[in-house]
Amino acid sequence: MPKYSIALVTGGAGFIGSHIVDALIRRHIKVYVVDDLSTGNSKNVNPNAHFTRMSILNPQFVEYLKRVKPDVIFHTAAQINLRDSVKDPLNDAKTNILGSLTIAHVAGQINVKKIIFCSSGGPMYPESARLPWSEKIIPEPSSPYAISKRSAEMYFHFAYMVHGVSYIALRYANVYGPRQNAKGEAGVISIFTNQMLNGKPSTIFGTGKQTRDYVYVEDVVAANIAAMNKKVIGVFNIGTGKETDVNTIFQKLQKLTRAQLPARHEPAGVGEVMRSALDARKAREILEWKPKVKLDEGLERTVKWFGK
Ligand code: NAD
Repeated sequence: MPKYSIALVTGGAGFIGSHIVDALIRRHIKVYVVDDLSTGNSKNVNPNAHFTRMSILNPQFVEYLKRVKPDVIFHTAAQINLRDSVKDPLNDAKTNILGSLTIAHVAGQINVKKIIFCSSGGPMYPESARLPWSEKIIPEPSSPYAISKRSAEMYFHFAYMVHGVSYIALRYANVYGPRQNAKGEAGVISIFTNQMLNGKPSTIFGTGKQTRDYVYVEDVVAANIAAMNKKVIGVFNIGTGKETDVNTIFQKLQKLTRAQLPARHEPAGVGEVMRSALDARKAREILEWKPKVKLDEGLERTVKWFGK
């Protein structure tokens, strides 16, 4: 198993990034966090991490990378909103393509051993392909967000081919759990939970029959740790393979929170797929990873955290 002593987590004040930071600190790895707090919260950052508030687009970020010289980078910082990427694809590309390319480019100069990149599975595959989608399906990114994630994967592959920087791109399904931002549009579970606990109505976009594959954040962290420890490179789906529709999520959360307001309905956004679920057999075989937290248990834990 490769040994790492210094890790950098971009976006380490965010939902997934902050949980990765905690897991690394538990493993006695020195952790640096760079986050501009655009959607993250400094309260999420583990006090034992070295936190710098900075954008990965800031020219000083390159100097920072050269000074810190991490041997492993978890790149989670991103413009995460699919609908915003449709409205403003240039802004999405700045963070998600140029920010990622900066990391891929500089990593080759400072001897980074491995990069673990947060990619996305749902909007990556053609909707016409049979579910659950495996990595063997040729990507057909359906939004600027997915295009930028696919571009970043390719730049990391390029950095591997040319500079020998190992990388793993984890294509997540819909991640949920404690600390997920309830204000944006990214996580329907955190948004509904927060609204229900505060007596506010929830909005379902479209019919609510659209399905997603919901994976609990603790399982996603385990996938990141497995990706760090395995001497392999490439792209891996991280999901449960199971579809759950938004109406079902709404009803389950209503029960858990004892909320009573009916859902409001609004039209679905452009670039949104109707169904999605990821086949994670490759991760199971090669990373020896499988999801452990069942949806009902994950929802219960999430509601408990939001209700604190
Ligand atoms: P998040 O918003 O909680 O985390 C992103 C973090 O990046 C935030 O703390 C934000 O402040 C920071 N950030 C954004 N732009 C930055 C910049 N230019 N410089 C420095 N920091 C910046 O979202 P998350 O759900 O934790 O997402 C983490 C990663 O996982 C993202 O790359 C996202 O695209 C990917 N992802 C998430 C999901 C999901 O369901 N949550 C699914 C697929 C992929």
